[in-house]
Amino acid sequence: MACKNCRENPVIALPNSNIKLCKGCFLKYFEKKAYKTITKYQMIKKDDKILALGVSGGKDSFSLLYFLNKLTEKKKILKLKAIAVDEGVKGYRNLDHVKQYCRENNIELHIYSFKKEFGMTLDEMVKKKKLKPCSVCGVLRRFLLNSKARELKADKIATGHNLDDEAQSVLMNQFRGNIERSARLGPVTGILSDKRFVRRIKPFYFLTEKEATAYCFLRKLPVDYGECPYATTSYRAEVRDMLNSFTMKHSQTKHAIINSFLEILPMLKEKYASIKIKGCKTCGEPCSGDICKVCEFLEKLKKK
Ligand code: SF4
Ligand SMILES: [Zn+2]
Ligand SMILES: [Zn+2]
Repeated sequence: MACKNCRENPVIALPNSNIKLCKGCFLKYFEKKAYKTITKYQMIKKDDKILALGVSGGKDSFSLLYFLNKLTEKKKILKLKAIAVDEGVKGYRNLDHVKQYCRENNIELHIYSFKKEFGMTLDEMVKKKKLKPCSVCGVLRRFLLNSKARELKADKIATGHNLDDEAQSVLMNQFRGNIERSARLGPVTGILSDKRFVRRIKPFYFLTEKEATAYCFLRKLPVDYGECPYATTSYRAEVRDMLNSFTMKHSQTKHAIINSFLEILPMLKEKYASIKIKGCKTCGEPCSGDICKVCEFLEKLKKK
């Protein structure tokens, strides 16, 4: 069967449909869908000047880097600033291709490491304390992305999260009974407007993992496909595997999770809108308690 739009040979069958597309039509479809998400959710406003972008060297963020660079090349008013975080995991996080791409395309790249910012690599933290690497890593990464994007005067920070990532997060919060965290999800994150929080935007929100992988491969982006050694131990990996095997039998599952989640998201945001945001007494970063999770964790880490 030929491509749905032209006579070329198809290279991909779109998830959750019978549509097959050739390389050219798929790349157009992918970029149009990401662009539509940006405009539908007003992710980039007219007076936005600086767009930060979380990059890891993996396929999602590299695809986003390529896509946003293409987009902002046309709209010269928006400046891209890429932010990479080096957690300090032995044999992982190779940023060489990201560095080269940013250099060749005149994109500012800022690299921050756990070692320099928090005094220890993630490996050293895990060795010192028995802890779940991904839970700690997630908190520290989010902290750095937000505080550094703010320092760089970014109006927004874009991340490469796709539909699979979001469906996993929705289920994880549901399974853990942590619905308040889901209120902070969505194509544009956050519940409250607070200038200490840099809004996160997810242009690939409605694109699946399979589509993001195909885009990266067809664009021949120099991606590092290596996986973090801690990834298999995470709760997310369990939920991802379960969701993938369920979706094999029931193809609409991930899309259905996202569509029904988006229906209740406005109600969730309203329910949690009254939460007071304070400033952490130690570092000044925004948090709901007196001390933020990062300072609380770093304090524990100092103890033997
Ligand atoms: S897999 Fe876990 S530890 Fe590794 S980078 Fe991702 S969140 Fe961090
Ligand atoms: Zn085609
Ligand atoms: Zn703090």
